[in-house]
This record gives sequence, structure tokens and C-alpha cells, in this order.
Amino acid sequence: MTTRVAIIGAGPCGMAQLRAFQSTRDQGTPIPELVCYEKQQDWGGMWNYTWRTGLDEHGEPVHGSMYRYLWSNGPKECLEFADYTFEEHFGRPIGSYPPREVLWDYIKGRVEKAGVRDYIRFNNVVRQVTFDEETRRFTVVAHDHGSDTRTSEEFDYVINACGHFSTPKLPYFPGFEQFGGRILHAHDFREALEFKGKDLLIVGSSYSAEDIGSQCYKYGARSITSCYRTAPMGYDWPANWEEKPLLQRLEKNRAYFIDGTHKHIDAVILCTGYKHHFPFLPDELCLKTDNRLWPMNLYKGIFWEPNPQLIYLGMQDQWYSFNMFDAQAWYARDVILGRIQLPSQAEMIADSLQWHTREQTLETNQQMFEFQGAYIQQLVDATDYPNFDIAAVNDTFLHWKHDKAHDIMGYRDKSYRSLMTGTQSPPHHTPWLHALDDSMAAYLAGPPMSVKSIG
Ligand SMILES: Cc1cc2nc3c(=O)[nH]c(=O)nc-3n(C[C@H](O)[C@H](O)[C@H](O)COP(=O)(O)OP(=O)(O)OC[C@H]3O[C@@H](n4cnc5c(N)ncnc54)[C@H](O)[C@@H]3O)c2cc1C
Repeated sequence: MTTRVAIIGAGPCGMAQLRAFQSTRDQGTPIPELVCYEKQQDWGGMWNYTWRTGLDEHGEPVHGSMYRYLWSNGPKECLEFADYTFEEHFGRPIGSYPPREVLWDYIKGRVEKAGVRDYIRFNNVVRQVTFDEETRRFTVVAHDHGSDTRTSEEFDYVINACGHFSTPKLPYFPGFEQFGGRILHAHDFREALEFKGKDLLIVGSSYSAEDIGSQCYKYGARSITSCYRTAPMGYDWPANWEEKPLLQRLEKNRAYFIDGTHKHIDAVILCTGYKHHFPFLPDELCLKTDNRLWPMNLYKGIFWEPNPQLIYLGMQDQWYSFNMFDAQAWYARDVILGRIQLPSQAEMIADSLQWHTREQTLETNQQMFEFQGAYIQQLVDATDYPNFDIAAVNDTFLHWKHDKAHDIMGYRDKSYRSLMTGTQSPPHHTPWLHALDDSMAAYLAGPPMSVKSIG
């Protein structure tokens, strides 16, 4: 009987898995029967922008958390695929911090070239996955919104690539009920212009807080106040951005903080993170974890230790992204193809525990991305994924961190050398702060003509 593999999600992880199988298929190795379920109409996961919030056109919770004007928050050189470079895709070097649409185009380019779209069932949401201990097979129940029918099929492996940045963690603060403005989670943030001329309160101090606040500053918010639970972000913010300790309560349009200070605000954005949420999985198959570098119960950060026929991709906190997903997908492929044998359950648990123990000792950003780099290296070493210079990626992360500390509104104007091709990326034609049009056309075109040069 042919081995059947279900992949849940055609975001960057699911696409990496399809590409991994296609690369062996093209070398003449028979591959399993693949079915990739994707609840949206198109591939790309988060990078496939939607204007929708709340429920989608089928009444499903909207997956997307990305917003207009989002540009890569780290150098693209750190996420470049080792088997498909930016230069190959765009035919020339481009800047280091592309907007969302440009990155979407890049990840689509690789799988279009690979010709794997036919494996995907779009508008198909996975509702339930169960495992039969006797047959050792999974049953995957999905709803096909195209035909409005339910399907139920059996698989030998299930690869959960559904992402973990879609279900908000939503804190409550006294006074929310009486607040006269809008309160939203980062998941529902789309358009910074909505907050032009407003006094904005951002709750949180991680990437979403930093980036959404920066977007709103760029597009004309009157003031930004961000508040933190443990530590301020500590960047050299513009004059109208202030960091405060945690919000205590709202009284009408006034925010009171735990240090006793207060400010007028018009809107609140909760940048308070996301939950790993898999409503289609029963308890015994369900990964339960915070957003961390080493989620527990995953051998090699991939295989569900109680039942390694269930595979999770991309569930880690992400310094590395696209090329880490590739390393995982190539490794998972080789286990499914029997090229790599999994050790006993006891050995898997012992191996994970050793990574977990190491994770507990990490204190600095540098230690964290080096930890993730070391994790990726051992996956890459075990497969035919092209080896790339992980030490050089770590070094680029370090420069990026320094650039941010030096100029939080200007770090995206820096550019780096590709670690795959060696080519130095050109600086983008317009400083990020002044580049208001985030379309791919504007990004790839020359600098906008000034009125003077037109005249
Ligand atoms: C606001 C924001 C900004 C980010 N910025 C960056 C950045 O600048 N650089 C970077 O490297 N990373 C960034 N990321 C991280 C980003 O999540 C990853 O780059 C990448 O998208 C993760 O890929 P994934 O395939 O794991 O998940 P996703 O991209 O979330 O894709 C998962 C796919 O699974 C599908 N799916 C979910 N549930 C089901 C179901 N039940 N049935 C069928 N299909 C399902 C979804 O529709 C989706 O297409 C950002 C994330 C967010 C939220």
C-alpha cells in the first residue's frame, strides 16, 4: 500500500515540505502520496495578506495576522533559502528588508518552479485528526468549502504545518468595558492610517509592539505609549513615543499605569502574543507549549515523541524562519522515506531533554540565535539540504541587533551580503521611514521622482 502523508497548511512550512518531497521526486525516488490541506484560497500562509478580520468568507477564523505596510523585521539574508536565492528569483540583488508582498513573491517563486501546487486542496479546513492504535493510521476529517462537503481520509503520517501566530492571547484590564475607543489585538491590526492623528496605547514589548508602534509612528499617529510587564524595549524612540510600566486600568479615555502616571489615549492595541492552538487535534496528539526555542515533547523539534508519525513544523520561537523550516522539512522527509531511522522513544526523550536543559541557560539574544543555529546545523548535516554558513547568519543577526539599538527607525536602511551567493545587497532606494507605498512595484522600481526632478 502506498504511504500517504497529510500536510496541514500551505504556508512557508507546508510549502517547504512539498518542495522537499519534490526535490527527491525529481531525483527519481518514489515519494508518498501527498495531500496538503489549506484553508485559504491561496498559499503563503501569513505572507498571503488578507484585509479580513474576525471570520473569513466561509465563516472560519481568519488566519492572517499580517498588516499592510509590513516589511521584513530582520534581514532577508537570514531567512534566504539555500536552494533558491533572492537573486535567482528577482534576477538581481534587492534590498535587505523587503515588504511583505516581495517576500510572498519570493516564497511562491520556489514552489511554482517546483510545480507542487496540485498537491494542495485549497479552501479545505482540517476539522479533526484521530489515530487508530490498531491500524497505526490517522484519519483526517476536513471540510471542503469549494464543494461544501466533508471528507474523511486515512494517512500514515500527518504533518502539522498550521502555524502558531493566529490565535491571540487576550489580557483584560479594568475599564475596558467603558473605554470610548477601539481595543484590538495585533491579530486584527491591518491599517496604520486608521490611527493617524490619534494617541495610541500599545500593550506589550515584543516584536509586534515594536513593529506596529513603528508603523503607526510612520503613518502619523499623534503619540505612542507602549507599556511592558517585565522590561522596556529600551530603543531610542522618537519624541512622541514613551515607554511606561504596565497598564493598571482605563478610566474613559485615560490610561493609568502601575507607576501612578496617566495619559489620554484614543485606541489600544494588545500586542500580547499568540497561543499554539490546534482545535483539530485530540489531547494525546496536541502540542502544548509557550512560544519558546525548545518546545517539549518534540524530538529534533519536529516529531511528536508519544507518536512520531505526527510531525510538527515551525513550532519554535523564530529567530530563523524559512531556512529553519526547510531544514525541518528535509529531515522529516528523510524519516518518512526511511533514509533516517528514529531512535527509541527513551532516546528521543533524552535527546530533547538535553536541548531543553541547554535552552534554560540562554540569557542573551546572541546565545539564543546561536542555539537555534546549532539546532538547524544538525538537521542540515543529516540531509541533502544545501549546507549554508550558519555562523555567518548568526553574525548577520548580531549586526541587525546592533543596527536596531543604534537607530530603531533607520535599521531597515542597512543592507547585508547574501550568505548564499556572496553578493552585497544594495541599499533600498528610499529610506524606510519615507517609503509609504509598500507595494512590490514601488519597492522594485527606482526611487520616486521628486516634484523638482519632474519639473
Ligand atoms: C505579524 C507577523 C509578522 C511576521 N514577520 C516576520 C518576518 O518579518 N520575518 C520572518 O521570517 N517571519 C515573520 N513572521 C513569522 C511567520 O509566521 C513565519 O515567517 C511563517 O509565516 C510561518 O510559517 P508557517 O507555515 O509555520 O505558518 P503560517 O504562515 O501561519 O501558515 C500556516 C498555514 O496553515 C493554514 N491552516 C491553519 N489551520 C488550518 C487548518 N485547520 N486546515 C487547513 N489549513 C490550515 C493557514 O491558512 C496557513 O496558510 C511574522 C509573523 C507575524 C504574525
